[in-house]
Amino acid sequence: MNRIMDAVVVGGGIAGCSLAKQLADLGWETMLLDRQVFPRHKACGEFLSPESLEMLSKLGLDSVMESLQPQLISKARLVFEHGDLIEVPLPGLAWGISRYKLDAALHEAIVQGGVVVRTGMTVISIKQHDDGYEVQMKQRGEVEVIQARTVYAAWGSHRHANIFVEPYPLDSNTSKQSYVGIKSHYAGMDSELVTELYFVKGGYVGISPVENGYSNVAALLDMEVVKGAGTTVPAILEAASRANPQLVERMKHAVPIEATQVSIAPVHLSLHPLAWHVIPHLGDAAVVIPPLCGDGMSIALRSSFLCCALANKYLRGEISRTFWQEEYTQAMNREFAGLIRRGRLAHTLCSMPSVTRWFPSAVRFCPPLGKVLVKATRLKSYNG
Ligand SMILES: Cc1cc2nc3c(=O)[nH]c(=O)nc-3n(C[C@H](O)[C@H](O)[C@H](O)COP(=O)(O)OP(=O)(O)OC[C@H]3O[C@@H](n4cnc5c(N)ncnc54)[C@H](O)[C@@H]3O)c2cc1C
Repeated sequence: MNRIMDAVVVGGGIAGCSLAKQLADLGWETMLLDRQVFPRHKACGEFLSPESLEMLSKLGLDSVMESLQPQLISKARLVFEHGDLIEVPLPGLAWGISRYKLDAALHEAIVQGGVVVRTGMTVISIKQHDDGYEVQMKQRGEVEVIQARTVYAAWGSHRHANIFVEPYPLDSNTSKQSYVGIKSHYAGMDSELVTELYFVKGGYVGISPVENGYSNVAALLDMEVVKGAGTTVPAILEAASRANPQLVERMKHAVPIEATQVSIAPVHLSLHPLAWHVIPHLGDAAVVIPPLCGDGMSIALRSSFLCCALANKYLRGEISRTFWQEEYTQAMNREFAGLIRRGRLAHTLCSMPSVTRWFPSAVRFCPPLGKVLVKATRLKSYNG
């Protein structure tokens, strides 16, 4: 292919789709590549926060979103290992919707918006030259090369060490501790319109209602704790839930839905945003926060807005690549460094029995404390 694209976005999750749509809306020739074929299940709690909904609306996707018929969620319930629980109202209505449906709907919308979408296509190398980039990709053993003025890493939390000639700097951006993320849909669980978080040894299990009356059960678990727990997602979930009697009760009649199980490993939580390495990074490629915040998709969307504003200036010839890199790095630090710190603190505190023993009583005595916890782990409203 001889065509030179203005923008090639690698990764067709929520960050990649959002960026591709914005660039195409601005008139740039945009291609989105994903190694998977959609629709596909994805390890995610499938809790779409009020902040995410606000940004999807800004993208002009209201009608697409409403057609998905989501479950509406207004409350979060935290259930600790020793059985105590707290309920906290959310700062607005959230949605329960599977990534299977959501990401496929986003793909459809961006194709209509003029983005060239190619799925089942794995990017294997990105080389920088003076005027842009050469992207090498592979589909069913066939290698293709494409030239692009700009390329974006929206490839999720997996660090692609060999894609660039330039190695990533020594990893001071992420924590050393490794986690496993898993999810499965279940039938037979009374679907309450609440997002629930059960704390277990080495992590937590989230339950949210999704379409078809199913519940999505997702977990983030310490890799060491998962060892020996079994090889299937339901077996790992069952082993993890034994530590929390209320979760055992909640899962008593749950029946896993075939082909909805997915896992991802290793997951490393961010210590700092990684905004740029050879190309701009966004979404989980830049920032991975503890899933208990339920705001990863909102970070994916917010980073795409930050990225697009500067990319547009670069493509118009108004700023240099060096200036773009500096400005984007600063913007990502301003936006996410505090949230990463607060999210990690909440993640650590919720795993400390010395804290979780008194915290529920403290929230019952002083309900605003619960709201403070929820607020601390969320992005502020989008004003861009
Ligand atoms: C257990 C768990 C529960 C979570 N729960 C929630 C929640 O309830 N709410 C919430 O908001 N967030 C949650 N998150 C976080 C959320 O899932 C992520 O933040 C979000 O999916 C990030 O979107 P993304 O577009 O950056 O990456 P992804 O959605 O991961 O998309 C990346 C895409 O890139 C593609 N790709 C990767 N490499 C290549 C390559 N070389 N070539 C081509 N394509 C490639 C992949 O196939 C993938 O489709 C959870 C995460 C975990 C692990």
